[in-house]
Amino acid sequence: MRVGFESNNWAETGYSIKHGYEWLQGDLSTVTWTKWIWNKFNIPKHFFIAWLSIHDRLRLRDRLCELGVYNEEACLLCVSVLENLQHLFFKCKYSKVCMVNICAWIGIRFRMCNIEDAWKVWIRGIKDQIKRKVLLAALTAILYHIWLARNHSYCQKTVINP
Ligand SMILES: [Zn+2]
Repeated sequence: MRVGFESNNWAETGYSIKHGYEWLQGDLSTVTWTKWIWNKFNIPKHFFIAWLSIHDRLRLRDRLCELGVYNEEACLLCVSVLENLQHLFFKCKYSKVCMVNICAWIGIRFRMCNIEDAWKVWIRGIKDQIKRKVLLAALTAILYHIWLARNHSYCQKTVINP
């Protein structure tokens, strides 16, 4: 507490419990993806996979190889590139087909992005709040079904048609 007292110059500016509490909390980063993840249109199982994705907590092959529990790095859907979060959901041929087709179906242009920015890209230029929530729920559903296809290909040794 002494460090905070000295670094914030509270002797001259005055100390308050609020200032002390804020100093103890440290820098709190603001996350922007809450509008996407906590969208009430999301189906819970879809939401959960999106939540794990945004926190980079899915057990992908890159992580499993890092941990030494697995030694096969290739993506389970295209079997050509290292499977990581960016590849699985946005760069994989399989995922691109899914994304492009769903984007065409719902009437938005597909743009390559990453997990942090995907939801922003999807609702860019959309003013209607209901349409925004539907698009975000669709994005969440796509991530879930790509994850499902990935796990299916691991368990069944066959890739589901995109
Ligand atoms: Zn792939």
